[in-house]
Amino acid sequence: MNVPFLNLAAQYQSLQAELLPAVERALAGGHYILGPNVAALEQEIAAFTQTRFGIGVNSGSDALTLALRALEIAPGDEVITTPYTYIAPAESICQVGARLVFADIDAATFQISPADVARRITSRTRAIVPVHLFGQAAPLGELQALAQKHGLALVEDCAQAIGATFAGQPVGQFGRLGCFSFYPTKNLGADGDGGMVVTSEEALARKLRMLRSHGIERRYYHDLHGYNSRLDELHAAILSVKLKHLDQWSDRRRTIAQHYDEALTGTSLTLPSAVPGYRHVYHLYVVETEERDGLQAFLDSRGITALTHYPIAIHQQQGYPWGRPARISGSLEHSERSAARVLSLPMYPELTQEEVLTVIEAIRAWELTRKGKAQAA
Ligand SMILES: *Cc1c(COP(=O)(O)O)cnc(C)c1O
Repeated sequence: MNVPFLNLAAQYQSLQAELLPAVERALAGGHYILGPNVAALEQEIAAFTQTRFGIGVNSGSDALTLALRALEIAPGDEVITTPYTYIAPAESICQVGARLVFADIDAATFQISPADVARRITSRTRAIVPVHLFGQAAPLGELQALAQKHGLALVEDCAQAIGATFAGQPVGQFGRLGCFSFYPTKNLGADGDGGMVVTSEEALARKLRMLRSHGIERRYYHDLHGYNSRLDELHAAILSVKLKHLDQWSDRRRTIAQHYDEALTGTSLTLPSAVPGYRHVYHLYVVETEERDGLQAFLDSRGITALTHYPIAIHQQQGYPWGRPARISGSLEHSERSAARVLSLPMYPELTQEEVLTVIEAIRAWELTRKGKAQAA
């Protein structure tokens, strides 16, 4: 039996009866960009994240760039983020012209380390952009304390963690701005690109609405240097349907993670560490092993797709740094080490019990071949 890494067509099949009428209503409505479906979704996501305002944009990447622009982060400023994640936050920081400063991660959770952030704060630091990586919240309590102590803005990258909680509250409400992605593979995915910024500050919400639409508040008066970064009605209509299922999908991801956890305890793999009191929504289920490439190839030979998130830390990318010199002082060793060791197992709500067992059986078989090799040696 083949087990794909992800199966978005299965999700569509399960929702077809709800999605098609919603799509038809959106098409018949005659508003195709920033219409009533977007306005409804903005309210729903704001309510879901317990914030006052949602601002729909083109992508999660744009959500980050516009968030930094709304805070007026500009050349001369420094922004601290993690090098162990998807490229987007680092790109956004460079795009607004600020200096990108990396802080290392905690080796057990993969999340940005507040202690290392603290070491990299200077008089020019304006913001911290933690990523809630793999579906679990970053250590928000310590990060909020640092931001407060040094007068910095906290901007949450929630692209992988919609529905994850910290201290019982959903992520996105802890920073001045929270940034979400609706890229199709995310836990709440559109059928194309999409994103949203949430905030409880009215002035920031107003500025974001202008920035996403060419700096306009009154038609043809461009009061800010803006972007074309708007959310489409079709995507908003689809996302509103899917949002109703999100909690149930997150629960299913947690159940699958529990099966993996129970079955793989006692193997040579290091399993994901779920921080007590945080609700992990398992965007990815990431294990660690010295023999990552061997395990990945073994699973592949059995028709199981496992991927690496991420094989290269951002400061080690060929093209890096883009434009402005970035500050790489101090070690980023945990990020580099994780990049060499991680493997993401198939994880999505439609994964069947049989498929989960197939993955588990294959890993057990790999463990036996390892032990065999160790004995032969
Ligand atoms: C996917 C992702 C983004 C970017 O979202 P897009 O919608 O693809 O632009 C930003 N940050 C993280 C951590 C992501 O995983």
